Amino acid sequence: MQNTLIQYLKGIGPKRAKSFQSRGVSTIEDLLYYFPRRYEDRTNFARISELKVGQIYTIKAKIISGGQRNSWRRRSFSISEVSVTDGSGKLSCIWFNQPYMKEYLKLGNSMILYGKIELYNDKLQMNNPEFEFIEDDLSSPDSLNIGRIVPIYTLPKGFSQRSIRSLIKNALDEFLPKINDVLPYDLRSRNNLLNLAQSLLNIHFPQDELYQKQAHTRLSFEEFFIFQFLLVLRKLNRKQKEGIAHRASGKLVDDFLSSLPFKLTAAQEKVFSEIKMNMSSPQAMQRLLQGDVGSGKTVVATLSCLVAIQNGHQAAIMAPTEILARQHFNKIKSQLSGLNFSGRKLRVGLLVGQDKDKEKIYQDVKSGKIDLLIGTHSLLQEDLSFKCLSFIVIDEQHKFGVGQRALLPKKGNNPDVLIMTATPIPRTLAITLYGDLDISVINQLPMGRIPIKTLLFSSEGEKKAYQIAKEELNYGHQAYIIYPVIEESYALDIAGAKKMFSHLKETEFKDFRLGLIHGKLKAKEQEETMSKFKNKELDLLVSTTILEVGIDISNATCMIIASAERFGLSQLHQLRGRIGRGSFQSYCLLISDGQTDESKMRLKAMASSTDGFYIAEEDLKIRGPGEFFGNRQHGLAELRIADPITQMQLLKKAREEAIKLLEQDPKLESRADQLLKSKLLERFPEYEKLMLVG
Ligand code: ADP
Ligand code: MG
Repeated sequence: MQNTLIQYLKGIGPKRAKSFQSRGVSTIEDLLYYFPRRYEDRTNFARISELKVGQIYTIKAKIISGGQRNSWRRRSFSISEVSVTDGSGKLSCIWFNQPYMKEYLKLGNSMILYGKIELYNDKLQMNNPEFEFIEDDLSSPDSLNIGRIVPIYTLPKGFSQRSIRSLIKNALDEFLPKINDVLPYDLRSRNNLLNLAQSLLNIHFPQDELYQKQAHTRLSFEEFFIFQFLLVLRKLNRKQKEGIAHRASGKLVDDFLSSLPFKLTAAQEKVFSEIKMNMSSPQAMQRLLQGDVGSGKTVVATLSCLVAIQNGHQAAIMAPTEILARQHFNKIKSQLSGLNFSGRKLRVGLLVGQDKDKEKIYQDVKSGKIDLLIGTHSLLQEDLSFKCLSFIVIDEQHKFGVGQRALLPKKGNNPDVLIMTATPIPRTLAITLYGDLDISVINQLPMGRIPIKTLLFSSEGEKKAYQIAKEELNYGHQAYIIYPVIEESYALDIAGAKKMFSHLKETEFKDFRLGLIHGKLKAKEQEETMSKFKNKELDLLVSTTILEVGIDISNATCMIIASAERFGLSQLHQLRGRIGRGSFQSYCLLISDGQTDESKMRLKAMASSTDGFYIAEEDLKIRGPGEFFGNRQHGLAELRIADPITQMQLLKKAREEAIKLLEQDPKLESRADQLLKSKLLERFPEYEKLMLVG
């Protein structure tokens, strides 16, 4: 019954149903789980006479004057301004460039306003406040929208806060009495969790703050629990699958190690032995390798591929972009060029999509002629098959979707899988979020690296940054300048890579050779520019974040990042990892006029540390996990209200409960677990397969 489509609710036609669908809501159940973005306590409103600058308030007031004008600076830019009063004082409210506001702002209308108070020309002001009109008619008390803690939703197109509130209220009234709890009763009472009906009611229309909290806890627990249940189940399943047992030691690995111009760091040694341990057991490996940019993950991955190859099997490395795949290919091919295996040279292949000799590669992979295949997601193409694929590396795993990642192993018979990421995740969090994987960490950079100097500049100090870059170029080193966008944006007042390339070429850097690279250029053009830069035919590369992962050019010693406040902390750290890869001092120069506290915190963290794990923790604190991991991260997309950082204890409890349940009733056969089972089957089709194997 909760599977009923929302079209059948009163007040929802095909159009509204569609706009809800684009927010992931198609059934009544989805609607009940469409949680508010925040709440407003409308039992008491702040009085205008008591407002303090810098604080956020909800007030209720009436429009007494106002109108709309165009900006004197830019004609097309509109400014809507009204003055409101609640009897205690006056406040001015301004909306920038929202011309449709004119329709709404009628004298005498009452509204609820939510926003931060600022001081402008000695007067109190709210800029771009959120607002809602209310009927001021006291004879019709408006119990959903006033006089209570009121939910504020992210609005699908065609809805107002009021209309979505009444829609959800109606759905709750109709369906809550019939709703069954997915969490078994015992589990709920052990953990003091509110029941589902109460929780859904109070997450939307809280009776009071305490109930809202309990509802939030219960629903978060549910999310964590289902998420952990699947992770643990997946891990248990894998343990039962028969994989390939490799012989770990052999001449090929030894030859490669002695051919390297360096010794492995202790951390690399440790991780390689962890991998060898997995590879030599018949259980299929699923290991996550975390290590900061430049910590030497790729070398370890190559070694592991050689273990597979010296057992007469094949290995594959999948990278998220063509540039990276080629870079891996070139580097690994040359590293392996001196090695012999059973009387012949090793054969490394590249597959990136538009290969002319694709058919030939396919044949050679199928016949086993290619020992190691490196490529992009073109490795996932259906008609590509291996003779005996026993080891897989997935580089920069967060760039692939879960589905994509799961495909490659299907090309072998339960091959060992190494997943690599240069986005370090704090340890405790990693264990819970990647509860189905084993985890290895390289927490040490190779010797002889000089820490990168990171300096902050305002846009006024831009010239100083250019100066440092020019000095580096004059030494014969190379540099990058990164812009957040390709085309400049006037509205946001940020420069773009394309224009700046032409500009810098004629001004600041006219004595140097410049290249431009961004995502709208053809792969081939990107490729050419990259290889020119690599061959030192270019001094300065103007780029967007396409440069982000894995580019390895040790002669590049300087990176300028423009509008640095536009980037996330982890992203900045990733970008910075493109320099400091050689034995020279490198400089990362951040240019920003970013005003918000958050952006200041980020840039400060960047300037104060080069430790990826520290940066990751700061980033998590500042942004929260959703943003941090991106939407495509497995499982996390399912977390709508649960937050692994602030609710760590709850997450741990949920994991323990999931493990307990899987021990007691692995196939969910008991009566108490039936609802949970059908919920899992419904939400996660993959669950059925896991159940069958288990
Ligand atoms: P990651 O993949 O973690 O970003 P790479 O494996 O690409 O790091 O290594 C970065 C650079 O450091 C490469 O040029 C690599 O050859 C070199 N390198 C790797 N391990 C060591 C080591 N133990 N000592 C010195 N240099 C190393
Ligand atoms: Mg790498």
